[in-house]
Amino acid sequence: MPGRIVVLPEELTNKIAAGEVVERPASIVKELLENALDAGATDVTIELEKGGCGSTRITDNGEGIECEDVPLAFARYATSKIYQFDDIYRVSSFGFRGEALPSIASISRVEMVTRKRESVSGTRVIVEAGQVKEIAAAGCPVGTSVLVTRIFDSVPVRKKFLKAEMTEQGHCLDVITRAALSHPEVKMKVVTRGKEILNIPATQDVSLRVSLVIGADFMDHILPVKGTRDNISVSGFVCRPEFTRSSARHIYCYVNKRFIRDYLLNHAVMTAYRRLLAVRRYPAVVLFVDLPPGEVDVNVHPAKMEVRFRNPRDVYEVVVRVLAGALAGISPIAETPAAPVLSWGRGSQEGRRSGLEEALRRYTVSSGKGKLFFERAFADKKEEQVDAAMPEETAEEDFAFLTGISFADLEYVGQVAGTYLVFSAPEGLILVDQHAAHERILFEKFREKPSASGGEKAVGQRLLMPEVISLPPKDFSFLMESRQVLEEAGIEVEPFGKDTVVVKTVPAILPNVESKTVIMDLLGEFSETGHPLNLQDKKDKIFAFLACRGAVKANQRLSAPEVAKLCRDLDATPFSSTCPHGRPVYISFSFSDMERMFKRR
Ligand code: ADP
Ligand code: MG
Repeated sequence: MPGRIVVLPEELTNKIAAGEVVERPASIVKELLENALDAGATDVTIELEKGGCGSTRITDNGEGIECEDVPLAFARYATSKIYQFDDIYRVSSFGFRGEALPSIASISRVEMVTRKRESVSGTRVIVEAGQVKEIAAAGCPVGTSVLVTRIFDSVPVRKKFLKAEMTEQGHCLDVITRAALSHPEVKMKVVTRGKEILNIPATQDVSLRVSLVIGADFMDHILPVKGTRDNISVSGFVCRPEFTRSSARHIYCYVNKRFIRDYLLNHAVMTAYRRLLAVRRYPAVVLFVDLPPGEVDVNVHPAKMEVRFRNPRDVYEVVVRVLAGALAGISPIAETPAAPVLSWGRGSQEGRRSGLEEALRRYTVSSGKGKLFFERAFADKKEEQVDAAMPEETAEEDFAFLTGISFADLEYVGQVAGTYLVFSAPEGLILVDQHAAHERILFEKFREKPSASGGEKAVGQRLLMPEVISLPPKDFSFLMESRQVLEEAGIEVEPFGKDTVVVKTVPAILPNVESKTVIMDLLGEFSETGHPLNLQDKKDKIFAFLACRGAVKANQRLSAPEVAKLCRDLDATPFSSTCPHGRPVYISFSFSDMERMFKRR
């Protein structure tokens, strides 16, 4: 390699920059669509040929570009959106780097026609390999239309990396639906081979757009969320825990209308759902975080898919609080549009509240992974305490949007298959899995803090005859290490000579379990798990195990008073829509579902 240093010609630097900005046809769609939105367009048409690999045309009715400015739009670092560096922290537009058009034009052929509303005629420009080939006045409608062809012709390596046309088209549609979700007021249309494949009308109602874009089935299982603290506002939709997906792809996060992939926000979402979902299941969520532009740095990623928050912890906390608040208050048949006929009893109010506190505690205690994350996200704020206690006074108004109905107020119809309890509700039919329900109730009782307990906390009941158990050394030491957790659950064990323990109490809320069997089974389950658990996970696992053991089984007849007690307990239990393993506690059929099933409409 010869060792001389040269300044690269602009043509080359643009091509290099394009490598970052333009990865595939979908990147072109993203940049052009964002330019259209920045120009205030309310009607955008996207035409894709060969999944965007052949050509892409985006036509908007936005403000257009001044004739003399047109060549400038294709110059590197030329933008109309910022004038000085600090403007970056004030912009509300998608673009500001002035890189997209020159990057795109350096790897393709671009033909643009554009006209400002006040101009009598527009401008047509053709740019090839970064060079303006033709520019002339032209008659055209108000707005801008950009046609991109010969994509990657000059970069054969990139071309090789492109996937099948359908895959590339899928990526383009992803980009479009993401933008559509945060811009309900903009009409969007997608056309391929002259056929309209997507037509999204403008609407004021975000939820309509959500149903169009994500699917109507999601709409049947969502709760709106909304909350603000200081200058951070959070809104959107979360799904009920029974509506899960196998990947995190359906978590849509927006910051100031910009779709982003953000570890912090994803983590906050998953924290709010902690213990509500089965392993490797993910919720569908549309989350809009809005905050003053100065609170977030968008200039950290070439395609601006990542952002950096000035106060990440505040954002994290607000998101967890708002989402966990909504999820803790989940009740059956929530899609009821009218005000709920029934209101929560006092007990359930407390249940919801303690659910919220619980979620926050879970997040502050957080797992080993969480710690790592905090260390990373707050490396510059080391001195700050991570286990923040949340101020209490905001809880009431922030979560005033919660509504719900009470299980105790439902009409009990009977039990089927010895397992499912059938209830008639004002809006439909509800089936409760008695085992899953009882499991969740016991689990939350184990977790209750002694101070918070009004009623039957998991206290120990003294055995008349303490039970002596001798154990293999490994199990003995595991049991000794877990003594405190067990004690919290109401199981008091003490060492009694070498490798022998004596069990003194059993949980009062599990009157029917045989202490020795439970402890042996518990050891069988946990002392072998190779990876050490942190305290919170260990507690959760042990509590879930005990709850499962103590809960009423399937095929167990319940008397009416037993059912009534179960309902009261369920009302007072947060996160009551799933069992600790993530299975649903109840399933509801609204009357409209039933009418559909019976083909009455
Ligand atoms: P940026 O969006 O970062 O400013 P671009 O290279 O994407 O950079 O665009 C350069 C400039 O061209 C923009 O600042 C804007 O003034 C103008 N422009 C691009 N596309 C459009 C459009 N569809 N309508 C109006 N003006 C546009
Ligand atoms: Mg742009």
